[in-house]
Amino acid sequence: MNFENLIRDIYQKLKNIEDPGETASYIPELSKVDPTNFGIHISTINQSNFGIGNFDDKFSIQSIAKVLALILAYRIVGDEIWKRVGVEPSGTSFNSLVQLEADKGIPRNPFLNAGAIVVSDILISNLKNPKEEFIDFVRSISGNSGLEYSSKIAQSEKETGYRNVALCNFIKSFGEIENEPSDVLDFYFDLCSLEMSCKELSELFLFLANNGCQMKTNKEILNESQSKRINALMQTCGFYDESGEFAFKVGLPGKSGVGGGIIAIHPDQYAIAVWSPKLNIKGNSYKGMKFLEEFTTRSELSIF
Ligand code: GLN
Repeated sequence: MNFENLIRDIYQKLKNIEDPGETASYIPELSKVDPTNFGIHISTINQSNFGIGNFDDKFSIQSIAKVLALILAYRIVGDEIWKRVGVEPSGTSFNSLVQLEADKGIPRNPFLNAGAIVVSDILISNLKNPKEEFIDFVRSISGNSGLEYSSKIAQSEKETGYRNVALCNFIKSFGEIENEPSDVLDFYFDLCSLEMSCKELSELFLFLANNGCQMKTNKEILNESQSKRINALMQTCGFYDESGEFAFKVGLPGKSGVGGGIIAIHPDQYAIAVWSPKLNIKGNSYKGMKFLEEFTTRSELSIF
């Protein structure tokens, strides 16, 4: 399969289409990003890698980082984690408060803000220097020591993240947050501020296409069963209340972020990252979704 020609072709076709989306202005720093950025990078199991457009420019990966926090927490506490967060799609938006009341502070899944806040709490309880140890973990799985949080983005969100403050306090009221909400939120906002390019993202996530093993070193990040479970969660919950549509149109496990990035995994084949900052109404990259739909349709490769 010649991914390069296909990616080039779809990129050219979509580059200048009318994009009805909007950048995520609720985090002021994100609305300063040039909305015309558009980049794609694929990293494959057989090492044929390719990028186009702004594939080498760093952007705020936002909720894509929730997958990495979950992986580290899963490595540390194992299946105990599922007592604190569920594995069900929510059918609600990423920052919704509504189900938490009925579910008594147990978020439906780890990719909702509520779920990632609980995962942040678990990491804080289990790590001595949570922020340093988390970024070290991310650098070690990517083999890239240049990965960083963005203090600008984190600060911008800390100033305006009222819903996340509400979520964390609400969960704490059910006794489902162990640490001080301010510490948990501080970690969560830094987590969401991680910056990477499409190239760095697709290289990092390739281990999920390789049964949980880092490609270059063969080091096990997750065992095979854990790796399958993370992919299953990305498939069912990675796009909030658009997860069904993503499965329907794209047919791959994936995760989006409000920075406009999407990572998608084809087990045993590749990891592909797309970045286009304008979001649809569900908070997922408009062009990113379009690109991946066309990519899996025309390559006739999906997990279904
Ligand atoms: N930092 C963002 C928030 O908490 C993450 C949301 C997202 O990327 N979907 O609102």
